[in-house]
Amino acid sequence: MGSSSVTIDKHHTQETVTFLHTIESIMQKHYRSNTFPNEAFPREDWKRLTDNGLLLSMIPVEYGGRDSHEEICALIEIMAKYNLPLSMYTMIITLLFIRNVAKYGSQELKDEVLPLFSTEALVGGFALTEPHCGSNLSRMCTVYRQEADGRYHITGQKHWQAFSLSADWWLIAAKNAENNNEFGYFIVKRSEGFRNIEEYNALGLKAIDYGRNEIDAYVPAYRRLNVSAERLDGAIDMLCASRLSMCAMSSGFIGRIYEEATERAAQRKIGNGALQDIAYVQYRLKLIGSGKTISQALLSFVSRYNDFRNVLTENFFEAQAIKALSTDKMLEGALNYQQICGGDGYRYNAPNNSAAYALLDSRVYTVFDGTNDLLYQQITEYCLKQCEGIPVSRFLATYDKTRFGLKHVNFDLSILDKNDNQAQKVFNGQIIARIFGLNCLNDVMQLEEEQRPFEYEEYINAVSFLIADIKKVITESECFSRI
Ligand SMILES: Cc1cc2nc3c(=O)[nH]c(=O)nc-3n(C[C@H](O)[C@H](O)[C@H](O)COP(=O)(O)OP(=O)(O)OC[C@H]3O[C@@H](n4cnc5c(N)ncnc54)[C@H](O)[C@@H]3O)c2cc1C
Repeated sequence: MGSSSVTIDKHHTQETVTFLHTIESIMQKHYRSNTFPNEAFPREDWKRLTDNGLLLSMIPVEYGGRDSHEEICALIEIMAKYNLPLSMYTMIITLLFIRNVAKYGSQELKDEVLPLFSTEALVGGFALTEPHCGSNLSRMCTVYRQEADGRYHITGQKHWQAFSLSADWWLIAAKNAENNNEFGYFIVKRSEGFRNIEEYNALGLKAIDYGRNEIDAYVPAYRRLNVSAERLDGAIDMLCASRLSMCAMSSGFIGRIYEEATERAAQRKIGNGALQDIAYVQYRLKLIGSGKTISQALLSFVSRYNDFRNVLTENFFEAQAIKALSTDKMLEGALNYQQICGGDGYRYNAPNNSAAYALLDSRVYTVFDGTNDLLYQQITEYCLKQCEGIPVSRFLATYDKTRFGLKHVNFDLSILDKNDNQAQKVFNGQIIARIFGLNCLNDVMQLEEEQRPFEYEEYINAVSFLIADIKKVITESECFSRI
């Protein structure tokens, strides 16, 4: 495999640089996804990582943490470069569990939980989805009631939770049993009433265990998070954190598969030369490479303009766009990597590539954490709301997060102003997310050359593929309106 393509930013503190180098060398030595077994991640291995400070990036300084937004972005990227499931594993515990305890927990809750996570190899999960509601969370059936003694009683079923069988702590979302429009978020110890009743055999991400779970738990009042109870507003902020982090995962992951696919194309002999001499193989490699560059641009945006420690509802637009675009690129990259590997790409544990797991692991990214189809619809709806009657295309020409991206588009985009049906909104959301991607690429090019994560040729390549994407979506949308 090639050397690291993950950039450890020279603006990090010395402590962060040392920490990131330590984690990178552990990942490189022990946890490369093409050598480490694809099975539930052993707790003693988790301990090796947490003993080296893995969970400290999102823990406040007073609890022994380093509390650094830039550090967690870099950490997730580094981990994904070596092992995508482990990067996901770390993201859930840091950004979906620890972040929300640190940000929204009462003093008593923080004093109880954060010292444990800063010193022990613990696992915390996030329980939102239920067997009868995934995309439509307002149909949630898990409920809470406050007892006369102040405690909350939470009952219901959840499924598909990461760490269903193994988490020590949970963040559980539930609906007020007496008011359908009110939601609460509670921190619950597994032993207080979280029980796995069915284990799922997931296609990929084998380091993480999944299943169907039953909840019947009593928790003290201080374990309720201090977030808006109105509709699902609290959950939106929490999900924005994980969605923004997806570009760190895609940047590390696509960076690796790009290196592996390039190496495979160079080594695989065909005719008098190698795969890399075939023009269409070169095209596929450029396509994978464009996904890497786009992800790097999105990550540069998140590192510089967002902060996981803030309330993120103001970042709703980019959270949806980043999650959907970067995970589309992960899946596209994995499919092209597998195609380049031919039959050997269809084998588990092939000696010369890791395409089978790359595809199985990345497949679910366009589905979970908000299915991309729904997120694209929400992007369009967000713009429709913001533009207050002016055409969406005109709004985007003035919106800071898209206006420079639009300068790359020299063809008609009036399709964005037609949002008469749901499918049209999904298509238009795909286009808008890609214009945001162009904006981010443009933004990176405004940096000093040595601060850019990619070269000018890579930038041009990424712009070309995003423009091609937009043209394809327009054609698909026109096709849909005719059928
Ligand atoms: C591996 C894995 C890990 C997960 N981890 C967690 C976790 O840790 N915690 C947790 O709480 N949940 C988790 N989930 C659940 C995940 O977030 C949901 O599966 C996801 O939100 C989709 O919900 P659903 O499965 O109910 O699908 P549905 O809501 O039934 O949707 C199915 C499909 O319908 C289509 N669709 C739905 N709405 C729209 C729309 N508006 N426009 C266009 N098409 C649409 C999409 O193609 C979508 O994929 C995980 C799931 C998986 C598979």
